[in-house]
Amino acid sequence: MLARFLVFAGRLHHMHEFTPDVESLAQEILDYSLIRLKDNPPLDGPKSVEELYSLVGETITAAGLGGSKALSIFKEVLAPACISTDHPRYLAFIPSAPTEAANLFDLVVGASALYGGSWLEGAGAVFAENQALRWISDLAGLPETSGGVFVQGGTIGNLSALVTARNYARTLHHSVARWVVACSGQAHSSIQSAADVMDIEILKVPTDINGIMQGSQLQSSVDEYEKAHPNNKVFAVVATAGTTNLGIIDDLHGVADFAQSRGMWFHVDGAYGLAALCSPDVRPKFSGIEKADSFIVDPHKWLFAPFDACALIYREPLRAKRAHLQHAEYLDTLNDDGEWNPSDYAIQLTRRARGLPLWFSLATHGTDAYADAMNKTMAVARAAADLIKAHPRLELLVEPNLSIVAFTRPGWSPSEYQQWSDKLLADQVGFVTPSAHEGLPILRFAIVNPWTQISDIEAILDTL
Ligand SMILES: *Cc1c(COP(=O)(O)O)cnc(C)c1O
Repeated sequence: MLARFLVFAGRLHHMHEFTPDVESLAQEILDYSLIRLKDNPPLDGPKSVEELYSLVGETITAAGLGGSKALSIFKEVLAPACISTDHPRYLAFIPSAPTEAANLFDLVVGASALYGGSWLEGAGAVFAENQALRWISDLAGLPETSGGVFVQGGTIGNLSALVTARNYARTLHHSVARWVVACSGQAHSSIQSAADVMDIEILKVPTDINGIMQGSQLQSSVDEYEKAHPNNKVFAVVATAGTTNLGIIDDLHGVADFAQSRGMWFHVDGAYGLAALCSPDVRPKFSGIEKADSFIVDPHKWLFAPFDACALIYREPLRAKRAHLQHAEYLDTLNDDGEWNPSDYAIQLTRRARGLPLWFSLATHGTDAYADAMNKTMAVARAAADLIKAHPRLELLVEPNLSIVAFTRPGWSPSEYQQWSDKLLADQVGFVTPSAHEGLPILRFAIVNPWTQISDIEAILDTL
């Protein structure tokens, strides 16, 4: 019995005590982290399961590999099989470009066992996160009483906002057969995903020739739909402030005014684009955002924070709390005192204080630096558009609205686009993936990294 206890105590010692071995592992981990932060990131790229298995084998064993060995597997095999999303020529999807301060503070968050779900447990962290949320909310022009929470990503942010919206709509409208959310055909796939989860319908509103959902078109679509389906209710509209594909901003004013006139919830999906609110030069493009009932923006996209963080903000947070507060005997102690519990405002309970890296970077650098970095990325996007217009074999699709530059290579088939993209990565020149617009293949650069120079764009365009 005693012997068994000693073995057990020995293992506990091994895992949860800061021994000299752990001290040296800590040094190795910090050294690697600092190299990753200091040096230019490698682009790298994926490998197949078989290749990885042949290089790594079984890593989960009864006895353990030891930290140094596990770390070396990560450094030498696994990390190089991941594309560095902060590489200046990673221009596919929406890349990431965390500041050094934000990345460093992520280490602190990881080391600190912070619980970000309740004020009782995480008051200091929640206070700081809320100041960062306040900055975003003020940029959008929402009232002081607005508030929200950092959730995992835009998908959960949109879903949580729409769940709040429907919960509120249920207090206004009774005996509704099907709930419906309106959005344009350019809306992000996460809106469809939210509709599937919520078992609601989507009303696709046609856009104008520039891809913009206009208030007037929304009105005629909703009128027509509700006339044809008198038992269904369009309870919310999602406007996109910077579509993922092309960076298009819907007519926020027109949509807001119509939504307000019908008592519909006005949600703005700004996962990518609303980051540009931090640049005073760009803010007028988002005019109308101040009327939103809720909106999201992902700091892990264009606000220079690490994965994963979406700021979800409500005009009237109480409505979100009514929809999302979880009740359980053991939780009621948290709910009695009226404090701000971030868990109450979205689909989640336990949460990492994932807004802290953004907060720390904002506190460190000040908000002017954010405007400068934002303007830099947009200047590169405009210069890239000029290069494309001057390029003999390329056509610019639309003038960049924010920092997405979409273009075509007329004459290429979809498979030629894909082959070019594969080769670009294989040659470690850059990462740019084909997309499509109105059924035709396109290429797009999403420029969110202040390290992306026009020379990087030139290097990629030279291969086209
Ligand atoms: C990226 C994006 C989302 C989804 O955000 P995730 O953080 O990837 O879940 C939603 N809407 C828009 C417009 C986006 O660009």
